[in-house]
Amino acid sequence: MSEILEAVLEGASGETLAATPMPVTTRAVFVRRDEQNMFAGVASRDKDPRRSLHVDDVAVPELAPDEVYVAVMASSINFNTVWTSIFEPLPTFGFLDRLGKESIWGQRHALDYHVVGSDAAGVVLRTGSLVRNWKVGDEVTVHCNYVDDQDPSSHDDSMMASNQRIWGFETNFGGLADIAVVRANQLMPKPTHLTWEEAAVNALCNSTAYRMLVSRNGKPVTQGDKVLIWGASGGLGSFAVQHVLNSGGVPIGVVSSEAKATMLRELGCEHIINRTEMNYQFWQDEHTQDEREWRRLGKDIRSLVGSDPDIVFEHPGRSTMGASVFVTKRGGTIVTCAATTGFMIEYDNRHLWMKLKTIKGTHFSNYREAWSANQTIIDGAVVPTLSTVFAMEEVGDAAYQMHHNRHEGKIGVLCVAPSGGLGITDSELRARVGEDRLTIFRRHDKE
Ligand code: NAP
Repeated sequence: MSEILEAVLEGASGETLAATPMPVTTRAVFVRRDEQNMFAGVASRDKDPRRSLHVDDVAVPELAPDEVYVAVMASSINFNTVWTSIFEPLPTFGFLDRLGKESIWGQRHALDYHVVGSDAAGVVLRTGSLVRNWKVGDEVTVHCNYVDDQDPSSHDDSMMASNQRIWGFETNFGGLADIAVVRANQLMPKPTHLTWEEAAVNALCNSTAYRMLVSRNGKPVTQGDKVLIWGASGGLGSFAVQHVLNSGGVPIGVVSSEAKATMLRELGCEHIINRTEMNYQFWQDEHTQDEREWRRLGKDIRSLVGSDPDIVFEHPGRSTMGASVFVTKRGGTIVTCAATTGFMIEYDNRHLWMKLKTIKGTHFSNYREAWSANQTIIDGAVVPTLSTVFAMEEVGDAAYQMHHNRHEGKIGVLCVAPSGGLGITDSELRARVGEDRLTIFRRHDKE
């Protein structure tokens, strides 16, 4: 452990941190270019992140003027790290090579290893010469929208920028490392009532759900809206449920086990469908969907909340999209950000146009949306849904759990933090938000 990381652990002041020499290498989680074909011919399910994710020391790159180094106390597993680790739908080295061609600073990213991770909570170690709003010693969380502010297309909604990227997925030097390289416009204040690992698991999924269901760029929920949420105890879904409740809507959470249903109830979601118990068979075979099964889901939703959903929160993709389009209310919206089970989607278009429905695509969030989503955490209006915490060396196992849908909520990863439970600086606020509420997923995960 280098001097600077020890200083961070001891809670050294900004001045002390600034005076301590930066290490030239950092421990990090990465995939290797020379292994990008290692799973050729292997079925998706059998592609094993434990084989492709490596933990070792890599060089700390030079800092660009608009960047900071962050000592990452904790990070999290997102599905994009699973995608990178199984090299699907394509290896991420192509993204790095493209970024490498954009600028001198971009060239740093085109390496033969890709340091992954799109979430982080930690301490600012150094600031580039153009950084104005942050200083060494600041405790921060990091959102993953990587935007080129010299591109005119980024100046309305930065998610519309032609070269918008996701940090740690389409860029190198991501959050699963002891030291990460972060643009200043990715930084947000760390919620003071949270541990490092609780603070690290929110930015990506909470901001995505916020844009989908709260921002005008998605489909904002209004009072009384019924919202069907697939994967309601997963990363995205567990935040979506909270945003729907906070907006006065009525979430209908779909989960696959009773244990997940219990967590959701505690989160305040009254209406729950256990898809395993209901055994929906939307697909008769690989090519044929069964409208009777869509109808059965629609009937189950109406029996719970009295009407069809105004909004469907979509991300499973191929396995559910046909059903989602069918069950949405006349004039309603299917808001989608992903396709975990397959991106070649099939739905019956007659149900879309005859009933005047809309499919709305959205992707992560711009800085303002991420900031507002972070504020919901700072205010205690949204709680982290951290379930399990892994050490960095166990990151392959953590990604494996997510790949096989064996987790709930969010998975945290300790980086510089030597153990869990550290980092709370406002215990009073923590007590006000409520220890029980802050630990719903952790408590049930241990049962
Ligand atoms: P997650 O934590 O694994 O949650 C996904 C949930 O989907 C699971 O909990 C599971 O819940 C449900 N699910 C899985 N297979 C299903 C199926 N066949 N039918 C119905 N439900 C199914 O993952 P996440 O973090 O929420 O991410 C979900 C997807 O969104 C991933 O593909 C990810 O890459 C993408 N994503 C995109 C963005 C973006 O900005 N575009 C941001 C975040 C995530 P049950 O088994 O309990 O039903």
